[in-house]
Amino acid sequence: MTISNDTQRADLIEGGKRLAAVIEALRAKVAPGVMAEELDDLAEKMIRDGGDVPCFLGYTPEGANRSYPATLCVSINDEVVHGIPNESRKVLKEGDIVGLDLGLTHNSIVVDAAITVSVGEVDEQTKKLLRATEEALTAGIAKAIPGNHMGDISHAIQKEIEDAGFKVVRELGGHGVGALVHEEPFIPNFGHAGTCPELVEGMVLALEPISSAGKAAVVLDADGYTFRTKDGSRSAHFEHTILLEKGGARIVTG
Ligand code: MG
Repeated sequence: MTISNDTQRADLIEGGKRLAAVIEALRAKVAPGVMAEELDDLAEKMIRDGGDVPCFLGYTPEGANRSYPATLCVSINDEVVHGIPNESRKVLKEGDIVGLDLGLTHNSIVVDAAITVSVGEVDEQTKKLLRATEEALTAGIAKAIPGNHMGDISHAIQKEIEDAGFKVVRELGGHGVGALVHEEPFIPNFGHAGTCPELVEGMVLALEPISSAGKAAVVLDADGYTFRTKDGSRSAHFEHTILLEKGGARIVTG
């Protein structure tokens, strides 16, 4: 969406603050032995206690044949995105990494964010993957300036991930957000600077670099939601909802 008045802006910022608080609580709860379903329960409880609505629960993305069954996406190791926390027993183990992707609706405004967290101590290569993917998000946000082009964001994200020796997952990417969970434009995590539509003040975007430590190819599980790397390598994902303001982006979910 494009923010057109002060009320929308205030609701967006408040929603983002609330989402960030839930995500920090989830991060703090991640530990060996914790079940994905417990994280999902905590996310749903915190969102509803705040008077807001989980926006992934019951949402049917384009192309899906059923609605998403949980509040939170929990994607472990080779699971790239949209891992379902509450349909099988998923337990975090020492050395795993876990992607937590969450959205909520506050006063009709949708915000979306994700982090990937280490479970206990992880190996050096995994640390590097997490660092590069988070830095790719920072680099993309730094290019999200009115007057720049969408390709500037895409290129900055790609460069950060590839310079670190990793691959960009190409089927998935960022998107417009605010009025709906997924809006135009789709924002690829690869591309050429200076190309694609111009960025405009007031735009609300979810930027979300998604990387692979091995090959970039992904496959969709039989559950219709969980994407995995085809070669079984680990994947990382970081996401913020941002608002384009004069001169730069405000991180709404930070
Ligand atoms: Mg998203």
